[in-house]
Amino acid sequence: MKHIYIFKNGKADGSASDKNLLGGKGANLAEMTNLGIPVPPGFTISTKVCSYYMEKGSYPEDLTEKVGEALTKINAAMKQEFGNRDNPLLLSVRSGARQSMPGMMETVLNIGLTPETIPGLIRKTQDKRFVYDAYRRLITMYADVVMEKAAGIEAPEGRGIRKLLDEKLEELKTSEGIISDSQLTSENLMTLCEEYKLLIQSNLGDEFPDDAQSQLWGGITAVFKSWNGKRAISYRNIEHIPNEWGTAVNVQAMVFGNMGRESATGVAFSRNPSTGENKFYGEWLQNAQGEDVVAGLRTPNPLNEASKTSAGSDLHTLDSVMPDIYVKLDQIQNKLEKHYKEMQDIEFTIQNNNLWMLQTRTGKRNGSAAVRIAVEMVEENLIDEKTALMRVNADQLDEIMHPMLDEKAERRADLLTSGLPAGPGGASGQIVFSADDAESWHKDGKRVILVRNETSPEDVHGMYASEAILTSRGGMTSHAALVARGWGKCCVVGCSELIVSIQKKSLLVNGITLKEGDWLTINGSSGKVYPGQIPLKDVNLGDNKYFKKLMKMADRWRKLGIRTNVDSPTDAIKARNFGAEGIGLCRTEHMFFDPKRISSMRKMIVAKNKNERRKAIMKLLPHQKKDFYGILKAMAPHPVTIRLLDPPLHEFLPQESDQMEHLASDLGISTNELKERIDNLHELNPMLGHRGCRLGISFPEITEMQARAIFEATAQLILENELPLPEVMVPLVGSVSEFIHQRKIIDLEAERVQKELDTPFKYLVGTMIELPRACATANEIAKKVQFFSFGTNDLTQTTFGFSRDDIGGFLPDYLEQQILTHDPFQSIDQKGVGVLVKMGVEKGRGVNKNLKIGICGEHGGDPESIHFFHKTKFDYVSCSPFRVPIARLAAAQAEVINVSGNS
Ligand code: PEP
Ligand code: MG
Repeated sequence: MKHIYIFKNGKADGSASDKNLLGGKGANLAEMTNLGIPVPPGFTISTKVCSYYMEKGSYPEDLTEKVGEALTKINAAMKQEFGNRDNPLLLSVRSGARQSMPGMMETVLNIGLTPETIPGLIRKTQDKRFVYDAYRRLITMYADVVMEKAAGIEAPEGRGIRKLLDEKLEELKTSEGIISDSQLTSENLMTLCEEYKLLIQSNLGDEFPDDAQSQLWGGITAVFKSWNGKRAISYRNIEHIPNEWGTAVNVQAMVFGNMGRESATGVAFSRNPSTGENKFYGEWLQNAQGEDVVAGLRTPNPLNEASKTSAGSDLHTLDSVMPDIYVKLDQIQNKLEKHYKEMQDIEFTIQNNNLWMLQTRTGKRNGSAAVRIAVEMVEENLIDEKTALMRVNADQLDEIMHPMLDEKAERRADLLTSGLPAGPGGASGQIVFSADDAESWHKDGKRVILVRNETSPEDVHGMYASEAILTSRGGMTSHAALVARGWGKCCVVGCSELIVSIQKKSLLVNGITLKEGDWLTINGSSGKVYPGQIPLKDVNLGDNKYFKKLMKMADRWRKLGIRTNVDSPTDAIKARNFGAEGIGLCRTEHMFFDPKRISSMRKMIVAKNKNERRKAIMKLLPHQKKDFYGILKAMAPHPVTIRLLDPPLHEFLPQESDQMEHLASDLGISTNELKERIDNLHELNPMLGHRGCRLGISFPEITEMQARAIFEATAQLILENELPLPEVMVPLVGSVSEFIHQRKIIDLEAERVQKELDTPFKYLVGTMIELPRACATANEIAKKVQFFSFGTNDLTQTTFGFSRDDIGGFLPDYLEQQILTHDPFQSIDQKGVGVLVKMGVEKGRGVNKNLKIGICGEHGGDPESIHFFHKTKFDYVSCSPFRVPIARLAAAQAEVINVSGNS
């Protein structure tokens, strides 16, 4: 087994296609080396070694020898030697999993600096201060990553070793009257390093290893161990990254961005990751090392004019300070983007006017950037439509449909402060200062905003639970910004006016103190922060031309029709604007809760006899006709599937005593008699009780009234030259005879209305397929219907025997113990419920090849389920209006996967 893959001098053992083996970072370092891009030489220890280590708790026998051989080659390439006292080579050790996990795994820089090698490096660089600064950084990173985190030591919140070391640094600065780190002298730094070591020894109970080989192996082992650290596991669970993947370790010659004013470091994107605009975008810091930009300890400068934000418009750009280097960097980013045909996120270091690339990877972007980049790359002939469609995911579309702050209300609000706009949209929430609080407040149903100085991977669970994230430090590429952008979460970073006290749970800004629980509002698109709450407003996608183009592209590819589940004309219009091609489910029950109607509904339910019932129900006819008229008109000429009354009747009955008295007096009966009638309707298992088509069978006048209302509305619209297309749907059918019973009533009403109004019209009659028995007997049912609409909510309920209303009580246990991998009411259970669905489709189409088949359960808006319905040859899916664009895209992606042959 080959453990080590070397990259040096324009030639690498691996390439970009070796991601599984070398991790993303290692594979791309190899690829860049092969492309002739300047990369400091190094080697990657493969993910297989990680798996071996995880399984056996030790390394493969020959690993030490192989690392030694690789080091010899790197020494030669650099004309230096690791551990040598006169001409020491320093190394970085970084992790790199198959999929980028920002900040999750660890980095140690400057490995190889020891009391033995320090004098040699000072002689060589003639810069004692630089060497001790590098040593200080090594001690800090090593103590934090290797000696604390990888060793599994859990420090109390805010008392980790890094924090203690930082406090020591601050103490020294105060006692010396120094403001900035750069004013520290080499003597200051030497003292600091010794104090650091003592602090490490007393806090972690171990000595910092002043030996090059121990540092190297400590670093390598820490990377492997951190794969199974708490934070890495938490991130993997959220992102569904399998545990078996493991991480690779990259060991690379150090280059220094902190060697003076001709040195620098930076992070950049080949296109703007917030807007998607095709302009090179990034941040840099002069005379700084590696993680300074990402860690958010100093607020970086913009790379060029295009990277300037209003908050930092007076900062120096790289293209003005080092124009030649900037041109080279620009050429490299262009080359990389053309090569990978994808937006790149790059890290670079400039050492004494020499440019080195340290990383390239696919850049994380927010939703609007993802859409714009995908669309523009097709227009630039860089990628084809299939690739573009696969580049945008459901969450990104969801994000661009996220609410923004109401502009008028925002204009009126008092600005508290502002920072960098790191994550889109607007959010209001109550302030919390720790990730754990964010999580527990969220669990209690509160909306929270997590406020921190800067975030770290330890905070991801709290960031996930928050509406928004606000930090006082950091740039657009800081941890908070990267993670928030990845999730499409509202986020503002680098809000330098904020003074955050985590301990006191308060923040001070411009003389105003806010405490835990106070409300805050954030505009993540502009970077503005306001006290209190500001209303949010719906997003207007109509202005987003890239979104429209992407949707058109999706429509060209998809085979599935997309309908919507709505029961009002307003929502029907909203859904149409999102691209719905009809209504797949119009639930009629909500219509009866209107105060003008509920009393007739209740009278109908508690009626003693048929006559009383008919009288009450016919009072509802004009109301229902008005409802259907509005909806059919809003959707014409698209079809509207109207479902007959479905829920158990007791849901409509009064609960409060004054409502009871009111109804009793309306009916002219005593409250006691009314109570008795209501008691008679009580069911132990209403979800399996008197509901669905069973209502229309017991009380045919309900079906008759609803059918008449639908058809009278249809006829009226036709007389008004509209093109209504009603589809009447019978719910909860388990056997064909139930359907036949209902269909007779529906057809009779249609015939009557056409005659009475002398207006012929088209309509369809079909059924929900939402019971296992309906799937099993779909061949019988299909002969009598024109369409099937799968009700996967009830089908999931009745297949699993899980009450859809009570699953919350036990689902968390099921997920935690991996008895279920996901909530089956969210994403269809393909192995169980899916088999019944397939059976229903095959049996149905077997006898009725014109049978139209749709789905109107919640799964109709879930991308994975949509892929399943596509494969199962459905005609359409139906979902809530806001999921319609997601469904359009998911349906196109399903077809792209289908034609690409890897479904
Ligand atoms: C279903 O059961 O999937 C369905 C769409 O109907 P409802 O959710 O109204 O029961
Ligand atoms: Mg149902």
